[in-house]
Amino acid sequence: LRVHAVPMDPPLGDGGRLLLVLSDRTRDRAVERMRADFVANASHELRTPLASLIGFIETLRGPAEDDREASARFLGIMAEQADRMRRLIDDLLGLSRIEITEHQPPTGRVDLGALAATEVEAMAPILAKRGARVALDAPVGLFAGPADAGQLAQVLRNLLENACRYGREGGTIRLSVERAVARTEANANPRWPARPGIVLSVADDGPGIPRQHLPRLTERFYRVDRGRGRDAGGTGLGLAIVKHIVNRHRGQLQIESEEGVGSTFRVWLPAE
Ligand code: ADP
Repeated sequence: LRVHAVPMDPPLGDGGRLLLVLSDRTRDRAVERMRADFVANASHELRTPLASLIGFIETLRGPAEDDREASARFLGIMAEQADRMRRLIDDLLGLSRIEITEHQPPTGRVDLGALAATEVEAMAPILAKRGARVALDAPVGLFAGPADAGQLAQVLRNLLENACRYGREGGTIRLSVERAVARTEANANPRWPARPGIVLSVADDGPGIPRQHLPRLTERFYRVDRGRGRDAGGTGLGLAIVKHIVNRHRGQLQIESEEGVGSTFRVWLPAE
C-alpha cells in the first residue's frame, strides 16, 4: 500500500487539511515481479546453450584438437546449440515487436483457408520427421479482418509445430477453418463473442495436457515438461506469441485437452 499526503490548498479552517491518497500497489508489484522473472528466465534459457558452446570450444582447442571424428560430432552439437539460441532470440524479438503493436489493430484481410493450406505445405519436413499427417478442412474464401497475414501465419505455424512436437508420433493433426456458429444456434460456443467470426482449430491425438496446466500454458517459458519441451526444440514462447497476436486481433484463444485423447487449440477471429 502506498500512502501519499497532499496539503490542501487553500487550507480550510484553522489547522489546514491534508488529502491522504492510499493506493493499492499489489498489481504494480506483480507486474514488476513478472518482468524480473521474464528477464531471469530469458537469460537462463540463453545461458544454457551458450555454456555448452563455450565448453565445446575449449574441448576443440584442447583435448579434441587432433581427433577428427570427435571434432565433427562436437561441431554438430555446437550448430544445434547455436540454432537454439537463434530461435530463442527470434522469438524474444518477435514477442516484443508484437507487444509494441498490440494496441494498434491490424488493417488487412486474410483468407484463412488459403493461409492454412500454405502453412501445412511449409510444415511438410517437420511432419515427415514425426511421421505425422495433417487432415485439412479449410475451404478457401473465409476471410478474417481486420487482420495481419504474417501474424496469423505465425499463429498457425506455432500451433501446428506444437501439435507435431507434443502430439503422437505417426498421429493425425486436424486443422480446420470454419465460420463461427451464430450465438443463437443450439451448438454455439457461449464463450465466443457475439460478432460474426471465423474459428481456426488445431487438434492433435497426443497424450494431452493435465488440466491443472491449462490456465498457465500461454505464460512465457511455461512448460508442462521442462526437459521435454526444450529437447523437442521449443523456445517456451510459442503460445505466449499466439496469445498476444490473438489479442491484437481482438480474438480469443481457447484450449481444451483430455489426457490420453489429445488437445485442441481454437482461435476465434473477427470475420471480415
Ligand atoms: P514450447 O516452445 O515449449 O513448445 P509453447 O509456449 O509453444 O512453448 O508451449 C508451452 C507448453 O505447452 C509446451 O512446453 C508443452 O508442454 C505444452 N503444449 C503446447 N502444445 C501442446 C500440445 N499440442 N500437446 C501437449 N502439450 C502441449
